[in-house]
Amino acid sequence: MGEVRRFKKVLVANRGEIAIRIFRACTELGIRTVAVYSEQDNVSLHRFKADEAYLIGEGKGAIEAYLDIESLLQVAKRYEVDAIHPGYGFLSENAEFAKRCAEEGVVFIGPSAEHIQMFGDKVDARAMAVKAGIPVIPGTPEPVGKLDEALHFGREHGYPVIIKAASGGGGRGMRIVREDSEMAEALDRASSEAGAAFGNSAVYIEKYLERPKHIEVQIIADRYGHCVHLFERDCSIQRRYQKVVEVAPSVSLPEPLRLEICETAHRLMSMAGYYNAGTVEFLVTPDGKFYFIEVNPRVQVEHTITELITGIDIVQTQIRIAEGYALSDPEIAIPSQEAIVTRGYAIQSRVTTEDPVRGFMPETGRLLAYRPGGGFGIRLDGGNDYPGAVITPHYDSLLVKACAWAVTYEQAAQKMMRTLQEFRIRGVKTNIPFLENVVQHKAFLTGDYDTSFIDTTPELFE
Ligand code: ADP
Repeated sequence: MGEVRRFKKVLVANRGEIAIRIFRACTELGIRTVAVYSEQDNVSLHRFKADEAYLIGEGKGAIEAYLDIESLLQVAKRYEVDAIHPGYGFLSENAEFAKRCAEEGVVFIGPSAEHIQMFGDKVDARAMAVKAGIPVIPGTPEPVGKLDEALHFGREHGYPVIIKAASGGGGRGMRIVREDSEMAEALDRASSEAGAAFGNSAVYIEKYLERPKHIEVQIIADRYGHCVHLFERDCSIQRRYQKVVEVAPSVSLPEPLRLEICETAHRLMSMAGYYNAGTVEFLVTPDGKFYFIEVNPRVQVEHTITELITGIDIVQTQIRIAEGYALSDPEIAIPSQEAIVTRGYAIQSRVTTEDPVRGFMPETGRLLAYRPGGGFGIRLDGGNDYPGAVITPHYDSLLVKACAWAVTYEQAAQKMMRTLQEFRIRGVKTNIPFLENVVQHKAFLTGDYDTSFIDTTPELFE
């Protein structure tokens, strides 16, 4: 077995709800916590939820502050931090950051820089999946540079196709093309969008699948070649390719298919020699075929619902793995795949400060009143959700993640609805009325939904 080195102090290179989530995991493990915050986050809650907090990126932009690798490492070194957790977004998928941490003797709580690199580029990730014998959506094996190549793909495989950014994320930089005449403009736009958003303008093309389900598998692996899956999440309830409501486990997949997808994800990550937490994403078509789309080599927003059904604290497991523990050690206590059993159903709603009546426009202003739902089976992970909090335009509009757990899916859905109804928020509008429409919709309650659900269900917006 390898060497174990327990952390005394962990810095979280992130903000909002995920920073607070990670602090909580650390505190329970007896680890001292360090927050960093931008000037714009001067009064944000995560700053006050850590044992120590330091300003970074003075004079820089709100986002740039959290992307400033050298400043983060300076803070880490000066205050004797053992390890950095990157959360999601920001530097979490930046191989250079993982490498710089290693060079400075600070442990990066995540996979190796090589694995981040391998999965950060979706074209490379697809190639890896093909090598592992895992079905991928027909697509271009290389980024597409010329219009001719793109048109050739469209004609050969038939429209519609989807143009995707090689380094894409968060549902951005994607464009559906339904005929030859739309290709030139779509290619230009997708490529310049990708360049602006991800610093890499490379795009590739896939066949666009109609009405798929988005199913993803949570993987946990240690540094000694032990890898398990924590079953799947159904993240098909999406708006603009972004997840809105997530469910674990999936309620509508036939059992053999569900298990086959989990085992396939496990095989890919085992073969890749991956370690720490990661997620393998698939699209599943109505005829029961599934296709790999990408790997997210980090903790995900919706890890919460997997924790609720398995009882496994994913963030604490990430920390233990980074400290050098094996899955079978009592500190992690996952000696085998069979040791993981799920119980019940969990649903997560992403409550955002967006006005569903005005096209989900982000709202800003002060929360004049804030009383959340709660009670048995409810879990809330918030970032800046308290009376008097100011919602600024600087960051994404996630206010709080509301999760409900119950023994049956129906009970979990009822609990979710009840909790959403209990929220009282004044001062800024939220998407809660929209979420209520989703979780009480018949299609949601029967599991009969796919990624087109929101776009094809106008009554959700009433
Ligand atoms: P990102 O990394 O930006 O989240 P993904 O590749 O994970 O991008 O895709 C996000 C969502 O976009 C998927 O869940 C799905 O709804 C949609 N999508 C992506 N690729 C396809 C495709 N080939 N056909 C149909 N929908 C797709």
